[in-house]
Amino acid sequence: MNVGHFPEWRKLLQLLIASAKNIETRTYYLGLITAETAMSTASKLISKAKSEGRKYLLEPEAKAVCSEYGIPVTKFGMAKNETEAVKLANKTGYPVVLKIVSPDILHKSDVGGVMINLKNEKEVRKAYGQILENVRKHKKDAKITGVLVQEMAPAGTEVIVGAIKDPQFGPTVMFGLGGIFVEVLKDVTFRIAPLTEEEACEMITELKAYPVLKGYRNTSPADISAIIAILLKTSKLVMAHQEIKELDLNPIMVYAKGAKTVDARIILE
Ligand code: ADP
Ligand code: MG
Repeated sequence: MNVGHFPEWRKLLQLLIASAKNIETRTYYLGLITAETAMSTASKLISKAKSEGRKYLLEPEAKAVCSEYGIPVTKFGMAKNETEAVKLANKTGYPVVLKIVSPDILHKSDVGGVMINLKNEKEVRKAYGQILENVRKHKKDAKITGVLVQEMAPAGTEVIVGAIKDPQFGPTVMFGLGGIFVEVLKDVTFRIAPLTEEEACEMITELKAYPVLKGYRNTSPADISAIIAILLKTSKLVMAHQEIKELDLNPIMVYAKGAKTVDARIILE
């Protein structure tokens, strides 16, 4: 059928073409396409973990999932040997961070599996061997997937974004500041997902530690809009993947402009 022959169809087509030329509409369509790809990549990684009998995603997998949802993460690559680690470090640019990737190790620094601020090839080679030695000392038969080489995020205000699946309320998002604020003062806020922008904003401003983010004396304010964006994207992620039992972005470095997730953990039901 040649739709051009029908006046009403022609009008509709013209409208569609006009709206496609509109940048906002195009961005909306693009957003839809991105959301779709994000879902499929995340689903694939979750299925892969399940098929290997794993209850959680490895850091590179969790970061890939986050990244697909637009959550900023540190650049990374996986090395299978020392030479690969050096190649990746040279490509990334120094300083770099090396981390163990193993389905048998959930808390990497507890076993000496994280080495930060490596400034040159020599330090990378040394750290590579050291990490494997530390891990073996801790768990002789730990399965080693590889060693993650990642950019070293500059220091910033450390925040934590988390999510848990509440048996009653479903996916729930958590926010707090890193270090003593969460661990000692338990200064955290929660909202049931999906979050509205207003709720994400409240989660930040109602923290006792909010003045730290807002900037005090000679510290510059942290990028609150970057945190709001991460909270909203995390909400979208956990809503779309109900098989996520826990998500932990800890820490996220927040800067005067932008933010970067340094560690990501995703635990499955
Ligand atoms: P885990 O929580 O499994 O012990 P992390 O990946 O959180 O391991 O690393 C431990 C600590 O090392 C982090 O809390 C952070 O302070 C630091 N760190 C890790 N990765 C980076 C990075 N890419 N840039 C800067 N600091 C990092
Ligand atoms: Mg961590």
